[in-house]
Amino acid sequence: MPHDHAARLNRAAEETAASGVVALLIAPSADLLYLTGYDPPPLERLTALIVRPDGEPVLLVPELERPRALNSPGADRLEIRSWRDGDDPYEAVTRIVSSAGTYGVADRMWASHLLGLQSALPDARFLPASRTLSRLRARKDESEVALLARAARSADEAFRRICREGLEGRAEEDVARSLARHLTESGHDTAAFTIVASGPNGASPHHEPGGRGIRDGDAVVLDFGGRVGGYWSDVSRTVCVGTPTDELREVHEIVREAQQAAFAAVWPGVPAEEVDAAAREVIEDAGYGDAFLHRTGHGIGLEEHEDPYLVAGNAEPLDVGMCFSIEPGIYLEGRFGVRIEDIVTVTPDGGLRLNSADRDLATVM
Ligand code: ZN
Ligand code: ZN
Ligand code: ZN
Repeated sequence: MPHDHAARLNRAAEETAASGVVALLIAPSADLLYLTGYDPPPLERLTALIVRPDGEPVLLVPELERPRALNSPGADRLEIRSWRDGDDPYEAVTRIVSSAGTYGVADRMWASHLLGLQSALPDARFLPASRTLSRLRARKDESEVALLARAARSADEAFRRICREGLEGRAEEDVARSLARHLTESGHDTAAFTIVASGPNGASPHHEPGGRGIRDGDAVVLDFGGRVGGYWSDVSRTVCVGTPTDELREVHEIVREAQQAAFAAVWPGVPAEEVDAAAREVIEDAGYGDAFLHRTGHGIGLEEHEDPYLVAGNAEPLDVGMCFSIEPGIYLEGRFGVRIEDIVTVTPDGGLRLNSADRDLATVM
């Protein structure tokens, strides 16, 4: 199912009007990809999509990028203008929008471009465009949820394959390479990250896999993902090589219950921070509150981390179509860590997990 870029551009123009900004200035990023299907790399040459409450959206590109821009999926809905090397691209922007007032700039626009815009539009104020666009991007349509579900199923399959393969005696970095291969062989376009954190390394949530040899009795945190049709997967499971200690069993069970409690709290209208609180309560009650080092989850879509964030202080109500991770963890310095992560989408009837890999403590060879 092709994405409806024309409808997205129309909704972005409506949101621009509603949020009272003169225009959105969107640099190459997931925002540009979402709105137009055009996905050039960010460069020192300015590329900017200009979305206004009234008037057609304009895509300003360097002259040499014009042919690519014209071939992008949403091009027929855009007025494409170009500037040549030697011209001032920020002046070119002021020929399209020149009023004082507030502009939304893509969160990922390079600082050099924002500085150029600030001197070309000295009376303007600039705010993050995410305040306007995340309202759209956070609510996924059916085709987006379908891609996230495909990515999740493929990641689950990669997990099953690495468990069958076995971990004992292998270096973390070797397991990481295998995981990346399993991701692409099970349907990913690209494998983007593979955390393999064994034994004491598991206490570092974003451990970089290294040369440590995995041995009998180790807890191993596996957290990995990539992209399918532009949309991300991100799943974590913790396995035990050989027989787990009673302590590992207990800690794993607490994290599993916390993950389930957070999942059960997902419902349209529930503030995002309540999902975080549901997981945190289970872990705090078990006496491990200080060892849960991070928020409970992050939105996912065209970016691995995007709105909504499940974190204390985010009172934004969940809405149908939102997709995010639920990934509580307990990290015991110098010993081991446990994390369990699924991607969940909000439906009218509550949460729906897109991952189905077993959440019980798996023992592997
Ligand atoms: Zn992370
Ligand atoms: Zn993850
Ligand atoms: Zn995650």
